Amino acid sequence: MIETIYIEDNIQQHPRVQEITARFPAARRIVCGRYGEVFNPKAQNFRLQKQKPALILAEKYKNFTLETPKGYGIGAKENYYFSHILNCLYDCRYCFLQGMYQSANYVLFVNYEDFQDDIRRICESHPKDDIHFFSGYDCDSLALEPVTGFAEQFLPFFGSLPNAWLELRTKSTQTRSLTSREPLPRCIVAFSLSPNEIANKVEDKAPSLERRLDAIKKLQQHGWQIGLRFDPLIYQTGYQQQYQQLFEQVFAFIDLKQLHSVSLGVFRLPESFYKKIHALYPDELLFASPLEHQNGMVSYQKELEQEMMQYCTEQLLGYIPSQKFFPCMN
Ligand code: SF4
Repeated sequence: MIETIYIEDNIQQHPRVQEITARFPAARRIVCGRYGEVFNPKAQNFRLQKQKPALILAEKYKNFTLETPKGYGIGAKENYYFSHILNCLYDCRYCFLQGMYQSANYVLFVNYEDFQDDIRRICESHPKDDIHFFSGYDCDSLALEPVTGFAEQFLPFFGSLPNAWLELRTKSTQTRSLTSREPLPRCIVAFSLSPNEIANKVEDKAPSLERRLDAIKKLQQHGWQIGLRFDPLIYQTGYQQQYQQLFEQVFAFIDLKQLHSVSLGVFRLPESFYKKIHALYPDELLFASPLEHQNGMVSYQKELEQEMMQYCTEQLLGYIPSQKFFPCMN
């Protein structure tokens, strides 16, 4: 799957680099200075690169964890996110990464221990507070697990911190690192879900809804807490019926005791990202919807947005208590 691997010169001997490169013996290896030399140049085509992304193995030096944007809506008083990878195996047309990065190549930061030191430092500086850490903001948390061993390395680490919560945001079915160990009481495996009629059009390469539901079932059976993320809600004719069926399908087997939270939010993108993505995919039907530009963001027209949120909120609150519900309004 990986044909080219760029490796930062100073980490060539890093054990994680050796382990990962050994998995791809046929891949072309190119040594580079800093990953930005490959990842940041402007004259790159994200859409073309997405067909065959290279893997860039790099070291991160700062900003291991960042505070979540204000009004993130879910989590505790103190919320942080972190990304061991930039970019994703999947190709969702609404994904903001296409607008944020010049390159579709995957950057994997191999110095996990430095991320962990930073996370530990934050937890120790607020010993009386629960601190939530979100993974899967600039990537999918689990999609590349067989290559990265991320969950395998970070789950025991998070288990050793008394006040840290971890949310693994994913669409992936790569859950073996989780089902092969005892569940962590302060870890939420949060799946993004869309109706089949929508996912088939805009979530290229991601596992089907059925496979994601199957992964959720298995995790739940193993005792893991589940999060459900109906975000972004995507508009198309007949969306009410499609989301109604989706909720029916999901809540037919969800055990409420193991359901940590459900969040809901409509499609939205920062304006600059939207412009870039629209230029990459000018014929994409997603962007032919009734969109509105407001306060630097692009989303559905206010009335439509409110109608969708209201409809889905009413449906969801028929299944779950309001304390587990986290709507995200623009
Ligand atoms: S799964 Fe998430 S990170 Fe990956 S392409 Fe889709 S929206 Fe982007």
